[in-house]
Parts: sequence; C-alpha cells; structure tokens
Amino acid sequence: MKGELPKWLNAVLVFGTLATVVVMELRRPLRKERNDKLRRDARNAAFALMSAATVGLAEKPVVGPLALAVQKNRWGVLKMFRLPIWAELALSVMLLDYTLYIWHYLTHKTSFLWRFHRPHHVDLDLDASTALRFHFGELLLSVPWRAAQVRLIGVSPLGLAIWQTLTLMEIMFHHSNIRLPYDMESRLCRIIVTPRMHGIHHSVVRDETDSNWSTIFAWPDYLHGTIRLNVPQRSIDIGVAGYQDPAQLTLGKVLEMPFTPQVTAGGPGPQSLPMPRTILAP
Ligand SMILES: [Zn+2]
Repeated sequence: MKGELPKWLNAVLVFGTLATVVVMELRRPLRKERNDKLRRDARNAAFALMSAATVGLAEKPVVGPLALAVQKNRWGVLKMFRLPIWAELALSVMLLDYTLYIWHYLTHKTSFLWRFHRPHHVDLDLDASTALRFHFGELLLSVPWRAAQVRLIGVSPLGLAIWQTLTLMEIMFHHSNIRLPYDMESRLCRIIVTPRMHGIHHSVVRDETDSNWSTIFAWPDYLHGTIRLNVPQRSIDIGVAGYQDPAQLTLGKVLEMPFTPQVTAGGPGPQSLPMPRTILAP
C-alpha cells in the first residue's frame, strides 16, 4: 500500500476547499461577524503557522514512522482481519474520526485539556480561519493520543494521510461562515458536520458548547445523544463566556491563556427552540 497521497492532489484538495469556502463566505454569510476580519485573519494565520510547525516537528516524526511500523508488523485491530484495501481505508477513516470525537470531548471535560482547547473557542467570530486556530500546546498534547489511535486501530500511512486531508477539508467547511440552503443543510447534517451544527458548539452558552463534538461524520453525536441542532444561528454569540472583550484576546494573551486562571462568567441561558434537538433551526 503506497504511503501517501500525491502532494499535488493533497494541495488541490486543501487549497481548493479553502478558496471555495472563503469565496462562499463572502457571497453567502451565515452569521454577522462582530470583529475586525483582517485583524482576526492575521491572528489566526499566526496560530496556523505555529500549528503547522508543531505538527511538522512533534507529530509527524512520531506518527509517520509508527504508521509504517503498523503496516509492516500488522499491528492493531484492523490488521487482525484480511480486509480488502478499500474497506480497511474506510474503516481507518471512520475509527480515527470516532476516536477524535472522544479526544474532543476530553478537551472540554478535563480542566487541564480545556486550558489548551479554550484558545480555539475564544475566537469571537467563526469562519474558515478559526479552523486553523489551535494553541500549539493542544497539538503537542494530542501527539500521544494520535499515536495510540494509529497503533490500536491499526492505521497504515495511506489511511492516516487520507484521514488527515479529509479532516482538514471538513474542519475548514464546518467552521465556515457559509449560509447553505436550509433544506440542503438539514439533510447534510445527518451525515457530516455542517456550519450551523458546529456554530452551536462555538456558542457562549455552556449547554450548547457541550454538544456537536464530531469532526467529519455526524454519527458519533447521534450515537451518544450529543447532537443539538435546534438553536437558531441569529441567537448565537460566538466565544466563551468571560472572554467577550477583544482586549483579552490579543495574540500574546491567547498564547499564555493555558497558564493563566480561567475567567468565569455566567453565560446566558439556553436558546434552543421548543423542538427536538435533532431538527435543524434556521
Ligand atoms: Zn470544541
């Protein structure tokens, strides 16, 4: 099994998605952005550069050779079966995506990991640039988790590469500020994570943040009953309660955020409409 996606294909998929999303955000915005877009984009680009460096220096040298060893020694659950290659690749993507749901849940539910995930959530608007805004500490802390995913599931280099590319494309899409036609999105969000669905996860309301932890496919949220679609986008304030002042969110302050005490503030109450959680609000 060849180890990587061709570089040109990876570049076309990732940059093609980014360009499409950015154009559609300008043409059909979903939520009103509250803050200076250029300044936010510049700040989020700085986070993206630090993230790319962290992944290149800390994750790749660990996880790349590990996936090769998994392939060679037939380690992990999937390698216990003689699966056709397409089935092994599909299951690798599904199981990596599912175990990322668990990791995302843990970053919210353990106070130590939340310190490092909070810099992603304090962004006061939500668009494709937020998808690239992660504290390098969160990415460092996720390296052992990623290694365990690859080793236990039995992910080959190609399965890993496909999942990484799909994840990057999907996070740019579901963080985006694109207003998809309602009917289309209400069907799409049964299968994959969509902008309205992930917008609810970025709400200042704690009860709403505690939902929609999936990344590519939506089924982990349906399976665990953490899906929540009945919050209208116009009522959502993006961010974290206690961090609504842009002066708290300069690059330097956000970088040192994991090492400072959490500012707590009571957010507003739930804003969901009186309808089932699995029905998408406009
Ligand atoms: Zn989150």
